[in-house]
Amino acid sequence: MKKTVIIGAGISGLCAAYFLKKPYVLLEAKPYAGGLCASFYENGFTFDHSGHFIHIKDKNIKKFVSKFSGGTDEINRNASIYLRNAFIPYPFQANLYYLDEKTKKECVDGILKRKNVEISAAMPFSGWSEAMFGKGITKYFMKPYNQKLWSFDLKKMTAEWTGAFVPKPDAQSIVKSAYSKNKTIYGYNGVFYYPKQKGCQALIDGLSKKVKIALNEKTSKIDIKNKIVYTQNKKYAYDNVISTQALPELIKQIRDVPLNVKKAVSKLICSQVRCVNIGVKSSKGIPAVLKNKHWVYLPETSFPFYRIGVYSNVSAASAPKNSYSFYAEFSSRNGKYKNSENVIKDLIKAGFIRKSDEIACVNVIDMPYAYVIFDKNRRESLEVINKFLNKNGIFSIGRYGAWEYSFIEKNIKDAKAAAEIINKMMHGRAAA
Ligand SMILES: Cc1cc2nc3c(=O)[nH]c(=O)nc-3n(C[C@H](O)[C@H](O)[C@H](O)COP(=O)(O)OP(=O)(O)OC[C@H]3O[C@@H](n4cnc5c(N)ncnc54)[C@H](O)[C@@H]3O)c2cc1C
Repeated sequence: MKKTVIIGAGISGLCAAYFLKKPYVLLEAKPYAGGLCASFYENGFTFDHSGHFIHIKDKNIKKFVSKFSGGTDEINRNASIYLRNAFIPYPFQANLYYLDEKTKKECVDGILKRKNVEISAAMPFSGWSEAMFGKGITKYFMKPYNQKLWSFDLKKMTAEWTGAFVPKPDAQSIVKSAYSKNKTIYGYNGVFYYPKQKGCQALIDGLSKKVKIALNEKTSKIDIKNKIVYTQNKKYAYDNVISTQALPELIKQIRDVPLNVKKAVSKLICSQVRCVNIGVKSSKGIPAVLKNKHWVYLPETSFPFYRIGVYSNVSAASAPKNSYSFYAEFSSRNGKYKNSENVIKDLIKAGFIRKSDEIACVNVIDMPYAYVIFDKNRRESLEVINKFLNKNGIFSIGRYGAWEYSFIEKNIKDAKAAAEIINKMMHGRAAA
């Protein structure tokens, strides 16, 4: 019997299977489900692929995530920027109060002296930032931080990704924030959710119980003429495919890809991320400078990582008694992570780990697909690729399937939407 073949059992593939009417087959290359939402358990510590803190707007998705995770904590964000040995509350552009007088003046002057230009997401990011926030904020935070995060020329990157991700207080609020402490909670993740136990994996485990997954089944070839997906040992006839693997990998597997599609794929670019997870034992608990902090942005080049996060401040269950735990994130465009081997020394230098504390474990995760880069070619390339895929019954969804800057809530919604389209095509009505 023909069916839908789902490629990948990350959050997108699992949700697609959950919302699809049978028959489907869900193929996962690895011996475990979860993709980037999988967690690792080591020496009593729970680590994720760096912070996977679930921000959700839709109340139905909140219920969905809580139900399958076995309960979530609702957490008020405590995030900062670490600049010149001081912590500035996030977002930088709404908390100028915490800057030294000279830097503050430069940021205020910058916002007051902005050029009167029409601001558009298609602008290069660096120009967009100056037009939006002025030269000072761009110089001290937007440029250095984003340079580290994206490992890409900010003049060649557009501002399309900033939509939900960069808080945009108006000029008056930015200036006001220089003279009195800001009280507004800005941004998409002011409140976030995290499973009470077992890290982000709890959500994956809950969903995995509801669907059938074929593990260790890596797809290697797709014959679009005869509608067959091949893995190493098996073949699966399909009517439709939902693929959640990275788009360039999907196209490589398809036989007879037209030249214009191959060309379009060659223009897709992304960054890579190394996440170094660290478990630390200490009877004194976490150093006072990090008390209650969930994550910290580090724009300065003296630190090779762009962000650290503190799992044990997000969830006490993620570290054993008398311990605390971190992640540090390094970005790259060539798979080489400068100075990542010195991460513990650097964390000690910053005062984030005490010299006398004991490192209980270090766990390194490399993500070859991490942040999709938005440049002038992305949109046009995706149009060409998706036209070809859709004509052949292939829906490419998820963060890397859709080649976008997305997150768990959006992945769940998009997987449900794709499943509903297929349910309608195959069974004549939408899923319940
Ligand atoms: C550094 C970082 C931090 C993040 N933090 C957050 C956060 O705090 N909150 C949030 O909401 N989101 C966060 N995200 C985004 C989140 O990780 C993704 O949106 C989500 O995990 C994407 O899920 P997915 O199923 O689309 O893709 P993936 O998780 O990549 O899953 C794809 C699956 O396909 C499998 N696969 C690949 N190739 C094949 C093949 N040939 N055959 C079979 N299976 C295959 C893979 O093994 C994998 O299991 C973060 C992402 C990164 C990189």
